Amino acid sequence: MAKNIQAIRGMHDTLPQQTPLWQYLERQIRKVLQQYAYEEIRTPVVEMTELFKRSIGEVTDIVEKEMYTFEDRNGDSLTLRPEGTAACVRACMEGGLLHNQTQRLWYQGPMFRHERPQKGRYRQFQQIGVETFGLNGPDIDLELILITQRIWKALGLDGLELQLNTLGTLEERTAYREVLVSYFRQHLDQLDEDSLRRLESNPLRILDSKNPDLKELNENAPSLMDYLGADSKEHFETLCQGLDAAGISYVINPRLVRGLDYYSLTVFEWVTAQLGAQGTICAGGRFDGLVKQLGGRETPAIGFAMGLERLIMLLEARIDSESLRVVDLYLVMMGKAAQRYGMVLAETLRDELPECRLQVNCGDGSLKSQFKKADKSGAKYALVLGDDELKQGVISLKPLRGQGEQQMVELDKLAGLLKNEVLV
Ligand code: ATP
Ligand code: MG
Repeated sequence: MAKNIQAIRGMHDTLPQQTPLWQYLERQIRKVLQQYAYEEIRTPVVEMTELFKRSIGEVTDIVEKEMYTFEDRNGDSLTLRPEGTAACVRACMEGGLLHNQTQRLWYQGPMFRHERPQKGRYRQFQQIGVETFGLNGPDIDLELILITQRIWKALGLDGLELQLNTLGTLEERTAYREVLVSYFRQHLDQLDEDSLRRLESNPLRILDSKNPDLKELNENAPSLMDYLGADSKEHFETLCQGLDAAGISYVINPRLVRGLDYYSLTVFEWVTAQLGAQGTICAGGRFDGLVKQLGGRETPAIGFAMGLERLIMLLEARIDSESLRVVDLYLVMMGKAAQRYGMVLAETLRDELPECRLQVNCGDGSLKSQFKKADKSGAKYALVLGDDELKQGVISLKPLRGQGEQQMVELDKLAGLLKNEVLV
């Protein structure tokens, strides 16, 4: 016997029992993005490796060890996208969307990172993200947070914490970086291997280390807040005032630095305690430097990305996926004439009830086996058509989930009855 081929580790199928919840999640998020008049952008899942190296930065976890990189047949180095921002910027530059205009965009799709698979962490995962260009903030920064807040509300999620920080400008961060490095130099013996490596390349990342041994050292580290200039301070304070006015509570977390080099000013994350270590469901920030870093003109920009698998886990705990099942009506047919007419009847019903989800029994079968299939489909009602009923111009409507009695309905009244009384 040949060995079965299995899916790649850390990459998962979404089976039909799970897709209704995914569709529900995506629908809710899209509806909110539409309310704010954001436009969708789609980019390929593969890009030149150079794009990610230049945008994300050589000394980040993603570029150092998480990318799926391979050689194309012509020798180009290509990479499966690990995140959405770089490709979005590339596409906007290439499509001429950035010069003298503003953009409010969203994207959705699979991202790929070679990480250790565990709960809430996969090698292929889905993100929905938002990117805006040409807007300086802090009003747009606030709008992005309002969008995320509205999404959580639409999904009925609670117990989420908004963490907020500012990274200042590149110059402010450079000055702060020196202070930070000399602080860590005084405590070299307390740093772990990762942090020692980052001390030279990316010292701010030490602050966001998950190693509990570094907690105290990090808490006592000098704070970037004290090295901000007046403009950066005002940007941050105005955002905080906006959040206060909108009634959104937040926690200022000076150790929230995000992994990527290109961030500046506002950064935020939404965190839940309900998912263990993988508790960040949404992360965002301002990346005013990125467009220029990729060869364009200086363009202010801010965005965020949500991890959909983590949101699905939160939804699973509060939504009965059974209630999202897809069939309303199941048509059972007995006899040759009934089978022939049944298909025609189903088409008429689909014309007249475009919202109704109707499944027709395919393949013969006893009444009993057809009802079994009807039940398994999750349908609320079965329509039963036999040759005798057909001759009399009637059909039987039978509730499958205990809502009322079975009844005989005249065929020409069926659509009206379903529309006005049964499926309302
Ligand atoms: P983490 O700290 O969890 O590694 P990150 O900082 O690498 O997250 P981002 O690059 O900011 O994550 O991506 C935004 C969101 O995408 C995360 O907040 C998370 O919800 C989700 N995400 C990131 N990596 C994964 C993954 N490997 N599997 C599932 N979801 C992920
Ligand atoms: Mg990560």
